[in-house]
Amino acid sequence: MLGKNEAEYVRAKIAVWWDMKDCPIPQGYDGGRIRPSIESAFKKRGYSGPVFITAYADQNQTADDLLQGLSSTGVDVSHTISESICSVMYSDMLEWRSKNPPPATMMIISNQVENVLSWDLARLQQETKYNLFLAYSFSSDIESVLGTSKEWRWKKILKDYKDEEIESAAAAAALFYCKSCKFDCKSLEKFRKHLSSKKHALEEAVNPWGVELDPVTKLWARNYAAKPEYATAKIAVWWNMKDCPVPEGYDATRVRSSIEREFKNLGYSGPVSITAYGDLTQTPDDLLRGLSSTGVDVAHTISDVKYKRMFSDLLAWRDLNPPPATMMVISDQLEQFLAKPLARLQQMKKYNLFLAYSSRPYKMSVLVTSAEWLWESLLAVSEKRRHVLQKCSDRRSESMGVFYCKLCFSDCKSLDHFRNHLSSKEHALEEDNIISHIESLHYQRRQWIEMEMFPKSKRLRKTSG
Ligand SMILES: [Zn+2]
Ligand SMILES: [Zn+2]
Repeated sequence: MLGKNEAEYVRAKIAVWWDMKDCPIPQGYDGGRIRPSIESAFKKRGYSGPVFITAYADQNQTADDLLQGLSSTGVDVSHTISESICSVMYSDMLEWRSKNPPPATMMIISNQVENVLSWDLARLQQETKYNLFLAYSFSSDIESVLGTSKEWRWKKILKDYKDEEIESAAAAAALFYCKSCKFDCKSLEKFRKHLSSKKHALEEAVNPWGVELDPVTKLWARNYAAKPEYATAKIAVWWNMKDCPVPEGYDATRVRSSIEREFKNLGYSGPVSITAYGDLTQTPDDLLRGLSSTGVDVAHTISDVKYKRMFSDLLAWRDLNPPPATMMVISDQLEQFLAKPLARLQQMKKYNLFLAYSSRPYKMSVLVTSAEWLWESLLAVSEKRRHVLQKCSDRRSESMGVFYCKLCFSDCKSLDHFRNHLSSKEHALEEDNIISHIESLHYQRRQWIEMEMFPKSKRLRKTSG
């Protein structure tokens, strides 16, 4: 049942944060069965590490027998106001992560992971990875940015558990927490007394726990010096020339050296491979020659498939080049096309990551980067003087870049052959094929959405009426 990447977690700790408001105990279900149900779900997948569960809710609204059932099976109970459950849970998760280095497993039982937690958590996971499980009572259809080992329906976990299945390990005495007052105790009676005390009511009114999440990764530094493992490692660059073009009048032979100089400034001196993507039928010869003469590969695509081609090239490169290594994407549309799948990949196998764009994005990417640049500052467009000084060294013996056609998957070494290819019948035919394939996909999607929105029976009724 275990994937090969999960083996290190078999006996590792499992910590569970459970939002009882989103995923309540069903009517008539015994609170004492929650722990064995969750343990059983993990056991079935091959995990046998110790399980720590904390249940979050406004515990004034939870019946005594449920709390007793939870507590007697070693489930910690936390009280907070309903609106703050998510932020309290998250702050506990952060604290737990800081005290429990991987390998370990995290499970979050909540409906709000995607909307509230996923951005910050996906960034944390790119930096320090834990094995992650989710459970919820409903989820959205959109693909999450979080990489998980398994996602469950909450009710299914409870339904799948049969009493005789497992002997729960003798439970350690569970704690009752009041998150509003930072108060804890071991007896339900004391806990109830606290929750109904004047002191507690006052504390909750005067110092309510924040409702908003506090994303810790927002403050992470960028453009810091290279970590030793990356200092001499390979660097691969995928560059969308449409978003970030070579500026008018800028010498294309300077692109590589400008980029490399910025890398060196941060302490990166590994070999740099660069591929420039664009509609090359629109790109002047001297620009292509300039790039190619400094060992920049150029790749012809059309807009409809550009990011598909960039991403599949990036995947192929990752397969051939295990970490440590650095990846860089130069593009303005990263968030739209690449960020989510790339963030998921980074949670599985982490590379050092650079970005560049022509204008600063309005929000921070879900991708964790160690350096980001504005395209024009990366090219040092305003630094004319340095340009003159560097010019002779720029033309040093790089191997020549390759000309790729990413529509026909062919390549040439000379620009003349490449131009011949781009104006050939075979190439035109391939381009037509790709465009008509995309059009038919659009058409099918439109039909499918129409069917979903207006099922046939309704449409028929409408036309006949
Ligand atoms: Zn309290
Ligand atoms: Zn072609």
